[in-house]
Amino acid sequence: MKIAFIGLGNMGGGMAANLVKAGHEVRAFDLSEAAIAAAKEHGCATFASAAEACEGADAVVSMLPNGAIVKSVITGDVIGKAPKGAVLLDCSTIDVATAREVSLFSQSAGYDMVDAPVSGGIAAANAGTLTFMVGGTEKAFKRAEEILKCMGKAVIHAGQAGNGQAAKICNNMLLAIHMIGTCEAFQMAGKLGLDPQTFFDISSVSSGQCWSMTSYCPVPGVGPTTPADNQYQGGFATALMLKDLRLAMEAAKASGAATPLGSHARELYEAFAVDNGALDFSAIIKTL
Ligand code: NAD
Repeated sequence: MKIAFIGLGNMGGGMAANLVKAGHEVRAFDLSEAAIAAAKEHGCATFASAAEACEGADAVVSMLPNGAIVKSVITGDVIGKAPKGAVLLDCSTIDVATAREVSLFSQSAGYDMVDAPVSGGIAAANAGTLTFMVGGTEKAFKRAEEILKCMGKAVIHAGQAGNGQAAKICNNMLLAIHMIGTCEAFQMAGKLGLDPQTFFDISSVSSGQCWSMTSYCPVPGVGPTTPADNQYQGGFATALMLKDLRLAMEAAKASGAATPLGSHARELYEAFAVDNGALDFSAIIKTL
């Protein structure tokens, strides 16, 4: 299949390389010359504009920083340049409203489109083990699924257009809340004289168990190897968690959902990100 790929950054670079490995002809474009050069090394054909990359493509995948850029690229560079009938897959994390607007626009121009944001970071993008949560019609999902499978371990249809983004921000809001809760519990356990390893051994098999505890423990030397064991380098950057929490709070406001803990988590990450945006989000334990 001929697949145009727009946005070859930390995530998109590895994803495009996995499409090449799966035998697809990948037509890549990014504004960054370094990203283009890396894509070339991974076997992508590279182009001077998104519009050129889209010529003759059966599918277009985008992995871009935000909703404004996605809207401008899809409406300005993809629609009308990719052949009518191509399937469009936006894997960026963006706001639900823009995802729905761009999808409607694409459908009315004769393209199937899905929003397909990911769970999993740069390592999962490189390894082809991302989880995709997908919004769009059944037909668009079926077409997108075979492409997404080359880049991930799980591809789940979440319902109508925008529902992939809805699932992503609800999931990440929950992640922020249970990470902060896990950090609080470890700090209090320490103040009460409990050894962190002992608390882990107890809580990880008790009702406080959660992913932030058992798979992504924020305390160095406890549980499996995590960013905490590497001075909180790598992993999922605090700045990206804050981005997702801002999107979640926007969506909560627009939909009238009550999210008092999500809102508090956003405040805590807003303050922490001022000086620590590049650190893994579990480093928030340092502030508690
Ligand atoms: P990144 O900044 O590394 O990559 C984005 C790329 O888009 C850059 O190479 C940039 O040059 C390119 N770009 C920007 N505007 C463009 C345009 N108009 N045309 C072509 N290229 C353009 O970001 P990333 O970490 O790869 O994240 C991409 C998306 O994935 C974001 O929406 C992010 O929220 C989401 N995400 C990231 C992670 C992560 O761990 N990094 C995890 C899950 C989801």
